[in-house]
This record gives sequence, C-alpha cells and structure tokens, in this order.
Amino acid sequence: VEPSSYLLVDQEFAAKQFILREASSAKHTNGKVLIIAGSQTAQSSMLGAAILSAKAALKSGAGYVCLSLPISLAGAMHTAIPEAVIIGRDIATITEKAHWADTILIGCGLGRDQEAIELVRELLASSIVTSKKVILDADALYALPVIGIAEALGKCREVLLTPHYGEFSRLSTLPIEEIASDPIECARNFATLHGVSVLLKGNPTIIAEAEGPVLLNTSGTEALATAGSGDVLSGMIAALSAKGASLSDAAASAAWFHGRAGDLASDVASLVSSGMVVDTIQQAIQEIFEV
Ligand code: AMP
Ligand code: MG
Repeated sequence: VEPSSYLLVDQEFAAKQFILREASSAKHTNGKVLIIAGSQTAQSSMLGAAILSAKAALKSGAGYVCLSLPISLAGAMHTAIPEAVIIGRDIATITEKAHWADTILIGCGLGRDQEAIELVRELLASSIVTSKKVILDADALYALPVIGIAEALGKCREVLLTPHYGEFSRLSTLPIEEIASDPIECARNFATLHGVSVLLKGNPTIIAEAEGPVLLNTSGTEALATAGSGDVLSGMIAALSAKGASLSDAAASAAWFHGRAGDLASDVASLVSSGMVVDTIQQAIQEIFEV
C-alpha cells in the first residue's frame, strides 16, 4: 500500500478531536449518548458489554449516558454505573430517548435472537437515524445481513460500523485472508459501496469513509486482545462523537486513546483485561494536556 493512500493517527490528531467542556456548559451540552446494549434470555445474560461501553463513554467525558436494557437488568446496572440513566426495551421509550441523544450506539451484547434482530430493524427503519449519529457494533452488525445491508443502512445520515475481521468478513462476504492481505482497500471499498464509515479493527485499525482519506491507527498492542475490548472502544467513540467530532474523526481518535489506555493498563500486556483499560482511559486522555 502506498503511504499516500492513508493518514496515520497520532496523539496530536487524537487530541484535536477531544472537545473540552465550556466553563458555562451543562450536562446536556457535553455529549448525550444513548447505548442500546445487553440482553437476557432464559439461558444467558449479557450485561458486561453494556457496562463496559457505558463506563467507557463516561470516562471519555460524555455529559450524559442513557442505557436501554432488558429492565430486569436495571438494578445490576445501577450498582455498576450510578451515573447512567436506564430505560427498558420498549420501542416507543427508546425512540423518545433517541431524539434526545447526540449519538446512538447499538449492539454490544444485544444478542442474536429474533427479538434483537427485530429491534435493530425497527431502529434503523425509524426517523431517528435520519438525524442522529449512529454506531453499529457487535450484534447489531450480525443483524445487518439478516435484514439486508442496503435496506438496513438506507435511511442513515451518519453511521459508523465497527467490525473486527470476522464481523467484516460476514458483512462484506470477503474471506478473512483477503481482508488481512489488504485491509485498507477492503474497508475503503465497503465504505464507498454502502455510503457509510467503517472502523475495521485489528493491528493496525483502519478508519474509512465513503469519501476522503483513510485513517490508520497503530496505537495499541495485544493488551487489547481480550474480551470486552471492542465494547470499550465503541463507548469511547460514542462519547467523542456526541461531544461534537464527526463519527470517523471520533473513531480514529478513540482508537488512538484506546490503544494508549491499553499501554497504560499494565507493563505486562498479557495481564491486561478490558476493565483495566476502562480505568486508564482518563489517564490516556489527560496526557494530551501535559505536552
Ligand atoms: P473486539 O474484537 O470487538 O473485542 O475488539 C477488539 C479491540 O481490541 C479492537 O479495538 C482491536 O483493534 C483491539 N485489538 C485486539 N487485538 C489487538 C492486537 N493484537 N493489537 C492491537 N489491537 C488489538
Ligand atoms: Mg466486539
């Protein structure tokens, strides 16, 4: 790949996308994030992904985080994150909150059953996606080919997909080997074809828009190769975009800070868990004020 075909994300770039709170600001002007995540069935409960993404959004400076969860999980969530407002899974309630939000993150631990797929279908067919920033991760990405990618994304004004190679392979129908051999070209082609932004996770991570230069982030190590890592990243992107950055700038910036937070979590990369990365996000961002 020619170096001219991409821009390298560095601390300076990441810092530029981090918008400070004005002295006169209030919580509702400092980034309102709605996260639709987590699930519970008779067989399993997925709450951790929702907790990690919501914590990461708060640690990245979001003014307000609201979570839509199966309401049976609300008690556990309040204990984990007192700052977050919890709503249930009723579509009318979600839609009302969506109009309030700046950025809507859908998918972490959402599940892959019919109910989850229908929820993603309804949200993407509603008028919310015509005016809000939307991030689709994890199980929301799983739902896209089931719904039909073109139909699912057709109404979105500004949408970011955050797949790892496996998820991207399913979305693009490209074999993983082909993606690995030229991730920049694969991400760019997909973004152009569907008119969306894509953050293709890996080492490096690629951020491609429908038009414009591809961004490449090389921060981060195998410290991030652990469960929940992607949920932390999507929460960070949600916060930075809700505070005002475009989805792709927020994605590139968050990817850089995420990698740096992984470095700060431990001297031994092999001992890092994603909860530790959540706890070093603030340190990673704070460093930009020390230079
Ligand atoms: P997910 O697979 O959704 O949990 O996302 C994993 C996150 O960790 C992404 O942001 C990846 O870029 C990052 N990550 C995973 N493994 C590595 C690695 N070996 N080096 C750098 N980043 C990684
Ligand atoms: Mg993931």
